[in-house]
Amino acid sequence: MGQPAILVNLNRCTGCWTCSTACKVAYQLGEDKWWHYVRTIGSGAGVDEPAGEWPNLRMSWMPVYTTGCILCAKRTKEGLEPHCTYNCPAKAMTYGDLSDPDSPVSVRMKQLRERGYKIFQLPAWERTRPEVYYAEK
Ligand code: SF4
Ligand code: SF4
Repeated sequence: MGQPAILVNLNRCTGCWTCSTACKVAYQLGEDKWWHYVRTIGSGAGVDEPAGEWPNLRMSWMPVYTTGCILCAKRTKEGLEPHCTYNCPAKAMTYGDLSDPDSPVSVRMKQLRERGYKIFQLPAWERTRPEVYYAEK
């Protein structure tokens, strides 16, 4: 594949951890090992800890791809989606070839841009997979 990429629509993410769990199960990672995790954007106090004061609480989530992630190389070579994107129940993730304008990820990115979403990546100091893009509105 020319330029493999994963696009995560943060507005659709419900913080369910199915993506992270699918990865963990597929690669039989040990109890404390995660190649992928879901960050809570909130108070900063921990997983699913909201910001604000009751009843005005707010919280959102960001799936994070660590450098341990192998982008499901064997699976994608066979033309399949990565386990994480395939299993997302909210259809928040799209995988494809960013160098092909007709691939699912290119089409989705274009659609979201046209709908006013901001597309961004995590900064290099986060040391995450550079193939991952986020969309948020
Ligand atoms: S990206 Fe999908 S599977 Fe992962 S936490 Fe968000 S909604 Fe759940
Ligand atoms: S792309 Fe594959 S290896 Fe990477 S986080 Fe998703 S399931 Fe795990």
